[in-house]
This record gives sequence, C-alpha cells and structure tokens, in this order.
Amino acid sequence: MAGAEGNAGRQSELEPVVSLVDVLEEDEELENEACAVLGGSDSEKCSYSQGSVKRQALYACSTCTPEGEEPAGICLACSYECHGSHKLFELYTKRNFRCDCGNSKFKNLECKLFPDKAKVNSCNKYNDNFFGLYCICKRPYPDPEDEVPDEMIQCVVCEDWFHGRHLGAIPPESGDFQEMVCQACMKRCSFLWAYAAQLAGDQEVIKPGNGDHQDSTLKEEVLEPGKDAVNDPKAEQKNEPCTSSASECDLQTVVKNQSLNSESQSGCKLQELKAKQFIKRDAATYWPLNWRSKLCTCQDCMKMYGDLDVLFLTDEYDTVLAYENKGKIDQATDRRDPLMDTLNSMNRVQQVELICEYNDLKTELKDYLKRFADEGTVVKREDIQQFFEEFQSKKRRRVEGMQYYCS
Ligand SMILES: [Zn+2]
Ligand SMILES: [Zn+2]
Ligand SMILES: [Zn+2]
Ligand SMILES: [Zn+2]
Ligand SMILES: [Zn+2]
Ligand SMILES: [Zn+2]
Repeated sequence: MAGAEGNAGRQSELEPVVSLVDVLEEDEELENEACAVLGGSDSEKCSYSQGSVKRQALYACSTCTPEGEEPAGICLACSYECHGSHKLFELYTKRNFRCDCGNSKFKNLECKLFPDKAKVNSCNKYNDNFFGLYCICKRPYPDPEDEVPDEMIQCVVCEDWFHGRHLGAIPPESGDFQEMVCQACMKRCSFLWAYAAQLAGDQEVIKPGNGDHQDSTLKEEVLEPGKDAVNDPKAEQKNEPCTSSASECDLQTVVKNQSLNSESQSGCKLQELKAKQFIKRDAATYWPLNWRSKLCTCQDCMKMYGDLDVLFLTDEYDTVLAYENKGKIDQATDRRDPLMDTLNSMNRVQQVELICEYNDLKTELKDYLKRFADEGTVVKREDIQQFFEEFQSKKRRRVEGMQYYCS
C-alpha cells in the first residue's frame, strides 16, 4: 500500500489498475484488527441457548463475581448488554463454555438477554483467568509491576495464558509456531512427547537460573525404544477386525510392515513413534500449523484422548485459528457486501479514486476503533457497519461531484 498514496493517480496512466478487492484482500492488518475485536462470536444474542459453545469470546465480571466469589464467565453479548458499565476481564476465547450471566453465581444481577438459565453450568471449567490472573506466576495482565517485555501465549490444552519466560522453553524466535502446550499439560499428556520429537522440532530449553522460577527444574528423560510394554506389533493387530480370508490378512500384514514409517490406516502412529527414541523434558512445546492432523486417531488413541479430556486435539475446528477465520468470513460478508457491490458497478476512474481513498479509510477506521478502546467499550457489529455506511455515503457524494483525483 505504500506506493498507492502519492502516485496512484500517475501510475494508473501506465499500469493496469489494482482492483480494490485485491487491495482489501492483501491488507491483513485491517482484516485482523476488525477480527480481533469481533471474532466469530455473536454480539447480540446471549450464547446460552446454543449450550456449550465450541469456542467463543468470553469475559469475567469482577464487579459481579470478584475474587473470593464463585468464578463465572459471560458471553460477548452479555458483556455489552448486562455488564456494560462493569469491570470486565477479557478472557479472549475459550472452548466448550456456556454463558453464566445471571445464574446462581450472580447475587444481584438478572440477565437481560436470557434470564431463564439453569442454576449452574456443570460442564464449564474455570481457572484463575476468571479472576484476572494468568500464568504459573498468577499475575494480572497487563501487569503494572512487571517491567520485563514479554508476550503472553495461550496453552491450547488448558487455555491459560503464560509469559514466554515462564514456559521452561523459549518460544521459537519470529513466533514461528501455531500452537503451544504448556509445561503442566505436557506432563499430563506425556504421549505428546513422542510427537514432539517429530513435529515440534528442537526446543531450546531455559536453563535453571535463567528463569525467575526456582521450581522449574530441568529434567530430561530419554525413552529407549522397546521400553513401552504396549509396543508390540502383534498386540496392535488384535484390535483390528479381520473380515477377509486368511491369505488376504497375511498380505495386509506385509503391506503394513513395509509402510511402517508412513501413517497407515490400520496401524497406530503413536506406537510407531514410541518405538523410536525421544526425549521428555519439563518444558512447554511449540507446534506448527496443522500439527493436530498428524495425531493418531486409532481406537486406542481416541480412548486415551477421551480419558485425558483432550479429544478436541483431533478437531481442526477447535483451534483459535479456525475461530478467527470464521470471524473473518462473517465480517467479510458483512463488510464487503455494500462495498463490493458498489465497486463492481464502478468504472475504472471511479475505482482509482476509491483506491486513493483507501488509506484514508484505514486511518478513519483505526481512529474509529480507538475511540471505543479509549472509552473501554467493546465495538459491536453494527458500529462497524455504520462506519462503512457513512464512508460509502461520503464517497458517493464525492463520486457524484465528479472529483476523480486524489486529494
Ligand atoms: Zn450470555
Ligand atoms: Zn457484571
Ligand atoms: Zn446476560
Ligand atoms: Zn508468568
Ligand atoms: Zn496448559
Ligand atoms: Zn493410535
């Protein structure tokens, strides 16, 4: 976009016009800004009627449920309608949660959007985030007493947030990872270490003394192949129903042994990985895009995920990325309709003019969003729509005035 500001008018004489669609699609910054604010959550209806929502933006109200009371979480719409003037903690997104607004955890508040709730939502899970405390150090965020610049990273298993320096392993530089599993969750879901060797790459572990936590002991455990008693290829096959004749079964076994290293439908990927040497550390792990799709989904593994309460790891749509993409698509539909309809009906000169205005649009939208942030109120979908409607009518007036130059 850098060149479009000053010389787009001149360029258009020589080069084909870049369509505004291209410009909008390229401009991740604007997309993400609006997306981070609105996400894929409903800003008007309390999400209670949907039951446990797969993933939603969630808030905790320290006015209604301060520390010492029972923790409670409220949906995006309730944060506007029922707790508008209250002090809220933004919990970003959490999975499988049902809105608590106005239920028995709230002594003096009735939900305006969905008052008819059960007393409690027994499937909801709570942690210190609901009182505005994060990480193993149990600090607020932002933390007025913390002068160390550090990013907060959310663990995809427990969904708590952690300081990069409190994870036992330094996050990859350039932020080149998609998801993180924290120290405690790696300990609990130790099967992930077998995958980590292959998927999560080499981890730089923070040496004791570097971190400010005494209890972060460095412990490495090398697991030798064959140590695991379950690791018996014959035992694996017992789980598989054999419906074909004996000779076909023999053939299957040969094929399976040949493709031992690739993921075969019949074998257990985890058992294959466990047969190799891998290292267990007392540290968090950082995982690349689509790593979840590499996890074995055989019967035994699925049962193990269920026992560990991490079945969501096999679900690509559980990721924050999927949630954000859903938000982007929803917004793109809302936002682009009036804009794109207009654009498609425009001639080349008009398109150039709109491109010239694009930088203004960006600045205006940023200022507009900043006003909400300064006031401490959350932007609603209508607010964004209103902004674009105003922008459109302003533009229409200019187009009618036949001003085809960049101001
Ligand atoms: Zn609600
Ligand atoms: Zn409240
Ligand atoms: Zn409510
Ligand atoms: Zn911390
Ligand atoms: Zn965790
Ligand atoms: Zn398996």
